[in-house]
This record gives sequence, structure tokens and C-alpha cells, in this order.
Amino acid sequence: MTPYFNYQQDYLFVEDVSLKDIAERFGTPCYVYSRAALTDGYRQFAEAFRSREHLICYAVKANSSLAILNLFAKLGAGFDIVSGGELQRVLAAGGSANKVVFSGVGKSEAEMRAALEAGILCFNVESAPELDRLNAVAGSMGKVAPISLRVNPDVDAKTHPYISTGLKQNKFGVAYTEALAIYRKAAGMAHIKITGMDCHIGSQLTETSPFIAAAEKVLVLVDKLAVEGVVLEHLDLGGGLGIRYDDETPPSISEYAKALLTALHGRSEKLIVEPGRVLVGNAGVLLTRIEYLKHGEEKNFAIVDAAMNDLMRPALYDAYHAILPLQKKFVTSHSYEVVGPICETGDFIGRGREMPVEQGDVLAVMSAGAYGMSMSSNYNTRPRAAEVMVDHAQTHVIREREKVSQLFAAEKILS
Ligand SMILES: *Cc1c(COP(=O)(O)O)cnc(C)c1O
Repeated sequence: MTPYFNYQQDYLFVEDVSLKDIAERFGTPCYVYSRAALTDGYRQFAEAFRSREHLICYAVKANSSLAILNLFAKLGAGFDIVSGGELQRVLAAGGSANKVVFSGVGKSEAEMRAALEAGILCFNVESAPELDRLNAVAGSMGKVAPISLRVNPDVDAKTHPYISTGLKQNKFGVAYTEALAIYRKAAGMAHIKITGMDCHIGSQLTETSPFIAAAEKVLVLVDKLAVEGVVLEHLDLGGGLGIRYDDETPPSISEYAKALLTALHGRSEKLIVEPGRVLVGNAGVLLTRIEYLKHGEEKNFAIVDAAMNDLMRPALYDAYHAILPLQKKFVTSHSYEVVGPICETGDFIGRGREMPVEQGDVLAVMSAGAYGMSMSSNYNTRPRAAEVMVDHAQTHVIREREKVSQLFAAEKILS
């Protein structure tokens, strides 16, 4: 529960709107976001880092809906992108290219060209061959590419292995021991300008200590570079702050900021952070209707109309999302496997959930604002869900429900 999603009498509300009304008006499955929750999250971040020069680059992949990008752009955000497609989204949503950092291990030439054309703030370069390619692409355009190297600090983020990115064995960034040599090489390149250093050690972190350990290791390299005459303008400490899905107790935004600010005390570099999940995760829910209740010999199933194509996190990471009925009822409660209609045993939303529900009821899958819609697919030829943004008592459709005809519009039959 957050201040933005709570029961008023027997109905679950988002801000001043009953989620049951939204389900009836717009159908299910449907993602619903609270504008106030999104705005407050961003403002808390900006406030927490106010004491030093900083830029909050929202990690677009967490939720790339144009309305959300536009909201953050208006609040002053920059953006962390991982593809040319995300760059186009940011620009279409009114974001400024000169506040964009571009991460990712596989940047193509076309993506580099588009980002140089747009004039982004920084390429977060993840390997030596990427640096060579970027230098060549920038040269062919008569441009100079601003870069930071993403350094892999080899610290354990203590999170799910699939979302841990800062260990030696991960594919991300350049090895800590090789970073200086690659910086030296970059310093000699005609179409590269070194502006910063960055790291991002993983996602859904619930402690501050790995962030501090990473920052300290990165700062050692920054100082070594300075001795060689390479002075950096900014330090990008990535994203990764976790949220509460169940009983986790992640640091608050202000505790997190305090830890980073302490680690950077006395330093003049501009700070960049790349929060994703923490800005959107608890600002959104997924509404889904119970199609059938099926009472089996071993288990009871609540078969709902949302599936792993709508919310992949449970299937992908065995992730937990709280599931709440939109209406409190006094009917018999059972323990249900909450599953979707997709033909995969991994297609579940929640397991063993005790709920007093009936067929036809609508459920809210909580904390679904991050890595929900942005990871959705059309598996089983399922149109993607509608998205709605609530602002006090108003509801706005920010993305229409997909139509099946759109799903195969680009396909052709052989003659
Ligand atoms: C995914 C990602 C982020 C955001 O991570 P969160 O855990 O959502 O905050 C930031 N930076 C990079 C490079 C990423 O890949």
C-alpha cells in the first residue's frame, strides 16, 4: 500500500478514483498509474540530491510510456536510454537530447549516429571495441562523441542473479583492471571526448552498502586518471535502488542519497544517477479480471485475464507482486494460484494467495509500474493492455488497448 493506492470503505482507490470504475470503463487487463505518485517520487529524488549539482536520468526501460517520459521531462529529468528506439521515445515525449545518457553493451552504428545527430550528453561505453566504433562513427560525421566508461566495480549487489550487473562474470561494462588502459586509449582518440565515468551494479538493491562500495572503487580510478591529467566532469553512479514489493525494507530515497552524497563528499564532479524502478514501480498497478475459479484436487486456481505477456516478472524472476481484490467481500476465502490463460506452466502472476473472491471479480496486481508494460509482449497473439493515468479525480487513457489486427498488420502471406 502506498498513500496513492488504498481502500476507501470497501473499494480500492487510486488517488480519488475507484479502480473498479476504471476496470469497468476501460476493460482489463489494464495498467493504471498515479500521476501524484510519479511526481512525488521524482521530487523526492531531486530534493534529496539538492545539495550538489546533479542530473536525474530516468532509466527509460523501466517504463517507457510517452506520458510518463513527458511527465518526468517536465519535472526536469534527463534520461538513461539503452537503444535507438528509446532515444526516439524520449524525443517524441519532449525530453532534451542534451540530458540523455546512452547505456548498453550492443550499440549499433545506426544507434550511435542517431544519438550523435541528436546531440546526447554522454555515451556510457561498455567495451574497447565499442569505443573504436564510436570514434569511427563520430569521425565519419565530423563530430566528437562525449563518453564515460562503464566500469564494472566487481561488487555484489546482493540481488536476484538476473538483475545483478556489477560482478566480474557479468556482460556489463569494462573490467575494473582494464578501465585505466581503455581511458588512456580514449584520451588519444580524435573523435572522443572523455567527460565522465559510470557504473551500474544491479537492480532492486535493498541495502546502501553495495552502492557505497561501488562508488569508492570508482573514485579510486577517477583519482588515478586525474594524476594522468584526465579530469572528469561527471560521475554517473547508475540506478538500482529497490522498492517494497512484499516485506523488503529498501533504504528510502533520502537514505540512499545521503549514502551517495557522503561517499562523494568534498568532490566537485557533477553527479548523475539513473533511477528506474524506484520512480515508477509503486506508482502503477495492473488490473485483471478473474475469468474462472477452478478448484482442483491439489490446488485452487484463479484464472485471470492478464498473463505473463502482460507482466513477465513472476515468470522471469519468480518475482512477488501483492494481489488485492478491488472490492472487499465477505465470501469464503481460499488459497489460489493466480494464473493467466497462456499455454505455459510458468504463466503465473502469484502463488498461494489467500483471497475472498468470486468469478468475475477484478484484482489489482500491485507494484507493477516498473518492468511491467515495458517488458510486455504479444505471445499467444494477445494484444497488449491499455494504460491509464489518474490525476486526482481524472482518468486519462495514455495508451489504447492494442487491436489484434495491429498485431499482424506487417505480416505477409506467400503467393
Ligand atoms: C536498468 C538500468 C538502470 C535502472 O535500474 P533500476 O533498478 O530500475 O533503477 C540504470 N542504469 C542502467 C545502465 C540500467 O541498465
